[in-house]
Amino acid sequence: MPNPRRDAIEAAAAWFDAGGMLADLRRRVAFRTESQDRQRAAELARYLTEEIGPSVEQLGFRWSVWENPVAGAPPMLFAERIEDPSLPTMLSYGHGDVVAGYDDQWADGRSPWDVSESAGRWYGRGTADNKGQHTINLAALGQVLTARGQLGFNAKLLLEMGEEVGSPGLRELCQTRAQALRADVLIASDGPRLRSDRPTIFLGTRGALNFDLAVDLRKGAHHSGNWGGLLANPGTMLANAIASMVDAHGRILVDALRPPPIPDSVRRALADIEPGEPAGPAIDADWGEPGLTPAERVFAWNALEVLAFRTGNPERPVNAIPPRASAHLQLRFVAGCDWRAFVPAIRAHLDLRGFTKIEIGQEDAEPMAATRLDPDDPWVGWAAASVEATCSARPAILPNLGGSLPNDCFADVLGLPTIWVPHSYPACSQHAPDEHLLAHLAREGLMIMTGLLWDLGEPGGAPNRDRARARPT
Ligand SMILES: [Zn+2]
Repeated sequence: MPNPRRDAIEAAAAWFDAGGMLADLRRRVAFRTESQDRQRAAELARYLTEEIGPSVEQLGFRWSVWENPVAGAPPMLFAERIEDPSLPTMLSYGHGDVVAGYDDQWADGRSPWDVSESAGRWYGRGTADNKGQHTINLAALGQVLTARGQLGFNAKLLLEMGEEVGSPGLRELCQTRAQALRADVLIASDGPRLRSDRPTIFLGTRGALNFDLAVDLRKGAHHSGNWGGLLANPGTMLANAIASMVDAHGRILVDALRPPPIPDSVRRALADIEPGEPAGPAIDADWGEPGLTPAERVFAWNALEVLAFRTGNPERPVNAIPPRASAHLQLRFVAGCDWRAFVPAIRAHLDLRGFTKIEIGQEDAEPMAATRLDPDDPWVGWAAASVEATCSARPAILPNLGGSLPNDCFADVLGLPTIWVPHSYPACSQHAPDEHLLAHLAREGLMIMTGLLWDLGEPGGAPNRDRARARPT
């Protein structure tokens, strides 16, 4: 029986085995696109005009560089291949910028800017985050195009160069260019799978709000023998304030910082999900919201974490009542929570308990919002069936990632169903020295994406177009 889908996937694997993927990735990693380094502005632009633009042109895309509406922020690349406006349209996204290379900290004399292979790992800055991931997806587009002669759908690509500095201008561009970015679905790749051996689809992200709590009571420290019992201690005060917000088992005590009840569809999706990594830390059974499974605690609930706490001189304590104390906290939150309500609620909570001297400080940057496509959405069942057909195993479906991505630009601003298919894994050393992509996982990722894009181009293959079209843009 002829099976053109299987043939396309096998051709993709053969291209991978012949070194095609490694060659593409090696070329891309060689661009030193460290977006936190202002000296790299020209390199960031070059990645678009000398690498990605010409690559997608070979796939029959028209491309242009979009100036960033935020002054001094890097440009983005927009590309599209429109085969027929009546066909479904996919928007894809990636980022070509990376974090700092930390060139002298890589093991065995490796360079972050030259992909090196060792024991099935491809080392290099951006191999996992995100050059490896968009290289897989662009290669899958090419494979479908070669096998079918056309995609069978319309494809658009938005590639930014500022993700590692908070995606400046991305939201504004999605607002002002909504017409150009119009699509039926977002299919993109970033972040890790649940575990390396489990193909994964995630549908959104948790949001994150970072804030400081600070108490500053007086100018200097005072001898604890002479003044202890007479002067209020800011460290004690701050510890108690935090304890009123989150208990000794990590349970959030402020109603406004807790999520709405977990939807049934989310619970069902998480029923077969076990978080954690074989070599990772042991999960604490008695931590977090009681009555939830570990998967629900990290993917379907909020977490309030004390990231740093300082009073006195922790390195050299002295017998004195410190004048001030401060802590840095983070709230990770799921869809259904509005971050704008958090700080006023914390203020009201502290005031009501007499902690009026504690000040709340918030970063200037807007927090990342939480997003989540309903696991019951037809696009999710469609994507899961496609991955299962390719891998003969049901993928893990995460309603959202535990971490954060600028997915609200696509889910909220553009109103798209968002399907993320990550090709990395939790121990990839993303953002650290020795970042790497697992070669066998890249190969499987390419096969998964080739199957997914093949299915998208099958006549009648895409679900639910009317609903997606009806969403506001
Ligand atoms: Zn990153």
